[in-house]
Amino acid sequence: MTEKQTIVLASNNPGKAKEINALLKDSTFNVISQSEFNVEEVEETGLTFIENALIKARNAATYTDHPVIADDSGIEVPALKGRPGIYSARYAGVGASDEDNLNKLIEDIKPLSEADRMARFVCVMVYLEHAEDPTPIIAQGFWNGVVITEPRGESGFGYDPMFYVPTHYCVSAELSPEIKNKLSHRGLALQQLLQQLK
Ligand code: IMP
Repeated sequence: MTEKQTIVLASNNPGKAKEINALLKDSTFNVISQSEFNVEEVEETGLTFIENALIKARNAATYTDHPVIADDSGIEVPALKGRPGIYSARYAGVGASDEDNLNKLIEDIKPLSEADRMARFVCVMVYLEHAEDPTPIIAQGFWNGVVITEPRGESGFGYDPMFYVPTHYCVSAELSPEIKNKLSHRGLALQQLLQQLK
């Protein structure tokens, strides 16, 4: 069997590494979380998902000799001018919990008409060969849905309980991880990235 190539994932979230490795199981790559290389978290000062993903990837690449993948993701409601967008993880303030962020978005969409509750998850995934790589590989995945004011479902995280997926007649927190990985912004971005890496 060919040995898998190690790629460092610029995230300290073990759940993310697990989710990405599940998607990579038939590939020649294996991701290891940056926490195993004692990488410090970096401030996300960019104004776009792409900038923030590059900031995270470059930071991790300075600490390791392996190529790095970073992702930046969030949820956008066009009727709210794209909010929460890049601020999805800190929508209710720095240090806010997933539940605080979800509750803030529910309050924000209450005045909106049904038609204005269209939303999408976005994930940008970047690959850097090393910290000074001038030609990063960049992939973007989108997942369209509708935000609802009555959260439900037990699986997933973040905004999953309020993200209704019309194609499956349920919210993303009611999908199995396997189905979510097939449909999601992160799954799609990773598939695209792998195509480009090949
Ligand atoms: P980051 O990409 O780790 O910075 O996460 C951004 C934030 O977007 C997360 O904290 C979640 O609030 C939200 N988010 C990103 N992807 C998902 C998802 O698949 N489900 C639910 N929320 C998500």
